[in-house]
Amino acid sequence: MKENQRNLKSIKLEMALPLLTIFHASILVLFTLFSFSMISHADTENETLLPIDSRIPGGIAVIPLKDKTDNVSFKGKKVWKVNDRNDQTWAVIGIPLSQKVGQVEYKINGKDFSFSIKDKAYREQHLTVKRKHSNPPADQIKRIQKESRLSKTAFTTFSNINKNKPYEPFLLPAKGPISSPFGLKRFFNEQARRPHSGIDIAAPRGSNIIAPADGEVILTGEFFFNGNSIFIDHGQGLITMYCHMDQLDIAMGDTVKAGDVIGKVGSTGRVTGPHLHWTVSLNNSRIEPLLFTEN
Ligand SMILES: [Zn+2]
Repeated sequence: MKENQRNLKSIKLEMALPLLTIFHASILVLFTLFSFSMISHADTENETLLPIDSRIPGGIAVIPLKDKTDNVSFKGKKVWKVNDRNDQTWAVIGIPLSQKVGQVEYKINGKDFSFSIKDKAYREQHLTVKRKHSNPPADQIKRIQKESRLSKTAFTTFSNINKNKPYEPFLLPAKGPISSPFGLKRFFNEQARRPHSGIDIAAPRGSNIIAPADGEVILTGEFFFNGNSIFIDHGQGLITMYCHMDQLDIAMGDTVKAGDVIGKVGSTGRVTGPHLHWTVSLNNSRIEPLLFTEN
C-alpha cells in the first residue's frame, strides 16, 4: 500500500513536472505575445503616417514645416500641406516626370530652399502600331485640344477640401494586378511618346472602382484618348483621375468618401482591353500613385 502510494506520488510528480514546464512555457509565450502586441499597438497609435518621400522625377518630397501657416511654393505653384496624427505639418511637393536631376528650389514664406533629385531609370516599352493608330485623326484635333484644356483646369485646381484633416493613406481604387507601371517610357514605332503618367490596374469589365480618399468630383466626361473619365479633387492641388471606365456612378459636384464606388472598369477610349488607368497629380505634377497607398 505504502509502496503504491509512493508510486502514485512519484507518478503525480512525474506528471506535474512536464505540466509545470508547459505552464511556464505558455506564460512565457503569452507574455512575449502580449509585449509584442503592446509594441505594435504603441506603433500604430503614434505612427507618423505620411506619403512616401521619394525625390526622383515623378516622386514627391515630404518636408516638415516649423509652422502650420508657412507658405510653401514650388515652381510658382502653391504646395499641398498636411498634418500627421501628431499634429506636425508637412509640405508635400509633387516632382514632375520631366524634372532634371540635381538641386531644385522651392520657397517657404518667400525664402529659397532646395533639395536634390536623384535619377530613376524607368522601364521602356517599344511597340509597333499601325500609323493611323499612332496619330489621332485630323477631325478630332479640336476635340482633343478642348479635352486637354479641361484636364489642365482640373489638374491646376487648388481648393480647401479636406483642409486640416490628418493624412490617411489612399485605398487602391481597383482590385487587380498592375499591368503597366507609372513612368513607363513608351515608344510607338520608335517614336517617343509621353511616359505613362499613372498606373494601369487590370480588372474585368464591370469591376468596381472606388474613391481612394475623400474628395469632390470636379470633372467627368467622355474623352478621346481616356474614354469615360472622372477627376476627383482631394484639396490643395491633390487631384486623382480615373479613365477608360465602362460606367460612371457619380456626377460632377458629388462629394465622395474613401471607399465609395465611383464607377466600373471598362475599355472606353484608346485602349486594347479593360483596365483602370489611375493618375495622381500634385501641384500639377503627375506622380507615382503607390507613394500614397503604401505605408
Ligand atoms: Zn494607363
